[in-house]
Amino acid sequence: MGFFNRVSPKVMLLGLAVASAVCLGAATESQAHQPQQVMTEESQSDRQGDAKNIRGSFVLENVTKSPQTLRLLIPRSDSYSFKVSQQKLNLQPGEKVEVEYGGGIFQDGKWQVNFEVELLGEEGQLAGRHTVDVYYRVEGGKFELSNYEKLFLAADERDPQLGDSFKVLKDDGSIRPAPESHIKRPSMEELMSLEKLDREAIFQIPTESQGGEGSDDPRKPDIRLERPELQVRPEPQIRPELRTRPEWRLPGQLNFVQSGAELTKSFAKEPILLAQASTTQASGRFSWKGLDNLSHRAFGWRVRAWQKRNGSWKIMDEDWIQADGRWQLSFPRRSGEVKFQYIAYNRFFKPQKSNGDTYRWVGPSRSSISANHNEGSWIADTSTGAARGLGEIYDEGMDLWSKLYWTGGINPLRDKAIDVIFPNTSYDCGDGSGVPWSCASTSGKIWMIPSHAGRNGVMQHELAHQINYEYWNNQRPPGAGGSHNLTDCFTPGLALLEGFANFMVFWTQADRGTAPSSGFDFAIENPSFACDDPLNRNESWVASAFWDLHDTRADGQDNLWFTHQGAVPGMYLRSGMKNSMADFHSTYRNAANSNHRTIIDRIFRQNKIIN
Ligand SMILES: [Zn+2]
Repeated sequence: MGFFNRVSPKVMLLGLAVASAVCLGAATESQAHQPQQVMTEESQSDRQGDAKNIRGSFVLENVTKSPQTLRLLIPRSDSYSFKVSQQKLNLQPGEKVEVEYGGGIFQDGKWQVNFEVELLGEEGQLAGRHTVDVYYRVEGGKFELSNYEKLFLAADERDPQLGDSFKVLKDDGSIRPAPESHIKRPSMEELMSLEKLDREAIFQIPTESQGGEGSDDPRKPDIRLERPELQVRPEPQIRPELRTRPEWRLPGQLNFVQSGAELTKSFAKEPILLAQASTTQASGRFSWKGLDNLSHRAFGWRVRAWQKRNGSWKIMDEDWIQADGRWQLSFPRRSGEVKFQYIAYNRFFKPQKSNGDTYRWVGPSRSSISANHNEGSWIADTSTGAARGLGEIYDEGMDLWSKLYWTGGINPLRDKAIDVIFPNTSYDCGDGSGVPWSCASTSGKIWMIPSHAGRNGVMQHELAHQINYEYWNNQRPPGAGGSHNLTDCFTPGLALLEGFANFMVFWTQADRGTAPSSGFDFAIENPSFACDDPLNRNESWVASAFWDLHDTRADGQDNLWFTHQGAVPGMYLRSGMKNSMADFHSTYRNAANSNHRTIIDRIFRQNKIIN
């Protein structure tokens, strides 16, 4: 065994974290953190050697006030395989346990090996997740211990002229396409039409409730309204026909898609088979390669045409990339070199490096292009390198925005696009620990650590905080910030804000007739693992209360739901800031049909909000 290289993230990263906190003016901001029940106290590994025989260990600490049961999943892929010394362990509050691992990596390359840890409640239900990420570089069958910065943040190949872009990969069919998102996606013009929907529009969301006595019989509740979402998304078209009306668009309401002419540029474009000599019509398709090594359509990315004029590059046209990855641009036909550039940003959120640069890719230079130019199909590689994980977080944001469009009737846009600083390898979210983490600030910034990019729901959780801040004028209840977890009791304000953000992940992704668990962070229908004394102070129970107001599934005393899918988040957002979930009891009670009000009481009672 080689000699150990002890890595203590707390000590190593402290200097960086302090520096960036000062730069970001964090003292004046309020952050909402991702929940954390378990911490990786330190990890160590052989520094180098035979890649078929790698050994190391990490120390896990229970940072909650309750005992935790942990189950470790074994990292295994076509390229590597590891074993751990203990697969199931119990940790008392504050207790630390060292887990040893050993295994091998059978292929050269840069490797992030994730040891996924599931936390389990007493009834065996999912009560949280944790990831231990370790990094190795393998060359010629020899490994070297590394870290995220060294492996992935090294300089990549760039185009210095077009704003420092990555180079695209040709989509030659060798990267298999991923399955379509199960969340229906509108055209970008339809999505942008939400911008016209002012904040007051959420007051029009109907609050009619359904269910009540007799609805907990075996007959399923009427889920007619849910049907459109359960369908597999049809292959979208570049100029979508006007499809199913979104749930929130009331009869007689202004049709923004047709009226917002300035936003519907490509929507209004006519297919041009014989272009006029004076115009270039360009089209193409763009995708991103994900952590799953599959190609995904670059829905909601931006495409730009650049042309060299008198020695310098000028933007000729730009537009959105649609849900099927297709795009179209048109610009005056002139001579001169042309390039197409693809940028991962939109009006809702803007991923960026810690220096503020957006993520951009550039295609090959064309010395001349025809009047009807087909640029072909290209891919941004976000499976490795400095943009590793970007595709996943971007797509999660687009799913939330799409769901808000189809069923919420809630405009999520802040005055300025939300700055998503990714990957965050230095900022500890102001908690003083020195350990980088993910969080959202009232100043409109989100920080995402690398290991959260592949964790389902983190991006949607943080975006939900931003939507919350926007509708509450960036006010937060007292004591709502700082580190927290799914298990313990905290302030009622923290439980409220975090519970809402947790709920919105389920609201976006889960069928409201189910008890979702796998693929998410915890079992929202059964958070009995969580603190319920005192009442009204735990984020998992708050999320569960929101879910019971929204779901059509009967459990316990809950056989009620608000009919409109935007009603539960809509009423929360439009109420303005309140200090706790208990304060929302009367809000939902008064909104429900009068014969349903005692069921609202029961929902708040069974979710440990009120007595
Ligand atoms: Zn949060």
